[in-house]
Amino acid sequence: MDPFADTLQRLREAFVSGRTRPAEFRASQLKGLSRFLRENKQLLQEALAQDLHKSAFEAEVSEISISQNEINLALRNLRAWMKDEKVSKNLATQLDSAFIRKEPFGLVLILSPWNYPLNLSLGPLVGALAAGNCVVLKPSEISKSTEKVLAEVLPRYVDQSCFAVVLGGPQETGRLLEHKFDYIFFTGNPQVGKIVMTAAAKHLTPVTLELGGKNPCYVDDNCDPQTVANRVAFFRCFNAGQTCVAPDYVLCSPEMQARLVPALQSAITRFYGDDPQSSPDLGRIISEKHFQRLRGLLSCGRVVIGGQSDESDLYIAPTVLVDVQETDPVMQEEIFGPILPIVNVRSLGQAIDFINRREKPLALYAFSNSSQVVKRILAQTSSGGFCGNDGFMHLTLASLPFGGVGSSGMGSYHGKFSFDTFSHHRACLLRPPGLEKIYAIRYPPHTPRNLRV
Ligand code: NAD
Repeated sequence: MDPFADTLQRLREAFVSGRTRPAEFRASQLKGLSRFLRENKQLLQEALAQDLHKSAFEAEVSEISISQNEINLALRNLRAWMKDEKVSKNLATQLDSAFIRKEPFGLVLILSPWNYPLNLSLGPLVGALAAGNCVVLKPSEISKSTEKVLAEVLPRYVDQSCFAVVLGGPQETGRLLEHKFDYIFFTGNPQVGKIVMTAAAKHLTPVTLELGGKNPCYVDDNCDPQTVANRVAFFRCFNAGQTCVAPDYVLCSPEMQARLVPALQSAITRFYGDDPQSSPDLGRIISEKHFQRLRGLLSCGRVVIGGQSDESDLYIAPTVLVDVQETDPVMQEEIFGPILPIVNVRSLGQAIDFINRREKPLALYAFSNSSQVVKRILAQTSSGGFCGNDGFMHLTLASLPFGGVGSSGMGSYHGKFSFDTFSHHRACLLRPPGLEKIYAIRYPPHTPRNLRV
């Protein structure tokens, strides 16, 4: 028995009926999402706290408000985004109407991860619904409490003939992916991204892949160590380090390292107290499996800050590692925890070489008082996004596309980019039926006279 067939059939029929296309319908779905957030705020905060020990502050800024802002922006701009886009014409099409129509793909599958289980489900969903698609959302099975709210409460706020939440882990998702979708939007790790893309290829289904990797953070000698330490520690420890755009490792000179380590210690103590485990502001590791993986990484290099862990609480202390080698496991995989290795480089050029030897990251950070240094790193490297002198603030701007490049992903979203991602850009030319005498010049037999045209 195929557990998904009936649901998918129902959604396909709804799409074919055309009911998701009018702006009024799309707006009503977006308003439903907005009501879902407003009316279930406490439930969502509790679920996020259960899944990740997420503080109310983190839940608000990185899950609830950010999703609400996406909805508000889409509602304000929906009709403008939907409008046909007139394009320039050539001599042969002067009398025609030429435009790009943004039309929905049809049935869209959204696969979301556990680290921002609300935001990374609703963010793509806003774009898909605004663009007039029917949607199947498959939230992560790992963030169980949020998955439950998304499955049991969210569908009450949207038209269920056009939207469904399906549940399952890798095995069920594998079966789901055997079906033909018109678009797949996946957020998760690069290995699973390959599985999703392979399944999509069987149906020639287009994909957006929002993946991860190791995000370098260059710290120049010319900067204030305490300012850098505050920002790096904050963004490294946000959501207990389980953020796809978190600074993954620091590249700096041994001299800067000597100034940065005490500054990081001071920042961590100010943020989380002498006993970070008792801080309400520090998250927990999502699962036993990830906890064990992270605990293994604590033996790389030398611990200079933190290093404690508590299995019963899935707690890993904010940790800084030095004397780390490029070949150490902590430098081979995305860390996805509150652990920050520092790798020494002798020069800016060496840092740039180090970055360029590796896969293209989702985000890249450069700290320096010299704008020349920041601009040189920007010019001589590649990454999904870039932020000079701070952590992942670039993703708070809906006017910037959010996405990876190379192994950190393909495609992008946020704001209007989401609407465009979930819309087919159809090339349209409408020609008046008459004027045949003018157009007859194209037809054979071709003579030297009409070749001159
Ligand atoms: P994941 O790839 O394990 O899971 C993502 C989704 O894929 C989940 O819904 C899961 O059920 C499903 N899935 C897992 N294994 C599968 C399989 N074998 N076959 C089919 N489906 C499968 O990712 P995760 O652990 O939930 O999230 C962490 C990863 O996601 C990190 O690599 C992180 O960098 C990345 N990430 C990227 C972004 C981004 O926007 N680029 C955002 C958040 C997380």
